[in-house]
Amino acid sequence: MELNALTAHELIDLLSKKDISPIDICNSIISKIEKQEKSLNALAHFDKEKALERCKNLKESVNKGGLWGIPIFIKDNISVKDELTTCSSKILKGFKPPYNATVIEKLIDIGAVLMGKTNMDEFAFGSSTETSCYGPTRNPWDLERIPGGSSGGSAAAVSADEAIFALGSDTGGSIRQPASLSGVVGLKPTYGRVSRYGLIAFASSLDQIGPITKDVEDAAILLKAISGHDEMDSTSADMPVSDYVSNVKKGIKGLKIGIPKEYFIEGVDKEVKDSIKLAIEELEKLGAVCEDTSLPHTEYAVSVYYLVATAEASSNLARFDGVQYGLRAENITSIIDMYKKTRKEGFGDEAKRRIILGTFALSSGYYDAYYSKALKVRTLIKMDFDSAFEKFDAIVTPTSPTAAFKIGEKISDPLTMYLSDIFTISANLAGIPGISIPCGFTKNNLPIGLQILGKPFDEETILKIAWNYEQNTEWHKRKPMNSHII
Ligand code: GLN
Repeated sequence: MELNALTAHELIDLLSKKDISPIDICNSIISKIEKQEKSLNALAHFDKEKALERCKNLKESVNKGGLWGIPIFIKDNISVKDELTTCSSKILKGFKPPYNATVIEKLIDIGAVLMGKTNMDEFAFGSSTETSCYGPTRNPWDLERIPGGSSGGSAAAVSADEAIFALGSDTGGSIRQPASLSGVVGLKPTYGRVSRYGLIAFASSLDQIGPITKDVEDAAILLKAISGHDEMDSTSADMPVSDYVSNVKKGIKGLKIGIPKEYFIEGVDKEVKDSIKLAIEELEKLGAVCEDTSLPHTEYAVSVYYLVATAEASSNLARFDGVQYGLRAENITSIIDMYKKTRKEGFGDEAKRRIILGTFALSSGYYDAYYSKALKVRTLIKMDFDSAFEKFDAIVTPTSPTAAFKIGEKISDPLTMYLSDIFTISANLAGIPGISIPCGFTKNNLPIGLQILGKPFDEETILKIAWNYEQNTEWHKRKPMNSHII
């Protein structure tokens, strides 16, 4: 098998035996990218010479037990010093941050090789990677379809073996949903587990950076690498980071898993429901005890999310005005004219829609009716999880109600698009961790994902359930057909 098709833990083994060198891995990735990237459009910024140079400059002294020599792709909203970081938006055209995000510093410290940036929905607004200023990313399983979003570039790159693994960000599902639709593993950590310093903010009370990988072991490796308290992010938590990699390999006998009835409603595809049911049976065979439960406020999650997330986004995006970052409109007559023209030219339709929605929800007169009410219901959603976790160790649901949809199918109907995150959003509102892993395919050969949600800061349990399931199934081993791509 080609090196680019392997997992990070397989490559770490080969590197430690000196069977291969980091340059070999880098070259195999570059040749895959050259073959298929034109059809996929998974990458926002990639310079092969730079990637090779980074690889050649790897210091032998860096701790080889870490990610020494392993290439990684980064979502285009995570700051990399002196490298284009544009949130796939015209308004950040040419922007190169003067510093690294904390996650990037951590990865460099243990020898990972930064390859480039992945395509995304503009400012992470979306579920399909269609709102990028670089054009849509295509799903490696069917090029007519979306890969999910907003971290669709990272998910497609990993799924199509252009990347070993990648970082994404998840505000309402943007790691788990594209992982599900592209047939890979995606983990959203507990809010506060991973530093957000250097992540260009969408909704600061919901955003988390997390891994998108080919298997669960790699998710554990990457989570460990990026987690931990950071004094540069006051919302990062001072909680111990356990050794996920060895701990996930323990059994799940006797673990209690809740199956919430609100996630098996009308509108969920039959093929999705059937795959999830089989997955639950598999977990029972492995010794888990699965029982029905209820999260009664689930039906309000989408409404609450689109009030809270747009309110925070409208405020976070106020800084893009032509003064400090990226684009500045030409032919301007005054400073107000510059703000207006820059924002008009720089933001796409979905970003403008969110700014308008969020500004409305925060405006005096509507604040109490919408925003503050949404915060109260957010607490109720969190309390649903608190009481479920008194009884259960984890909760299992579908990640997405459907498999990947066609490019263009939902883009002109924002409400339908917003519903594609119906099952992922609650975890962000409650701040809890969630993972999506492959658990089946539709008859059209499109991947289906299983979501496992856990208690705050208990990534270990959801990784353990995911790892045990994966060991006993073959779904994660399927690869998209190359003939689709070339
Ligand atoms: N699809 C959701 C949205 O559009 C979530 C996006 C995300 O998690 N970044 O807001």
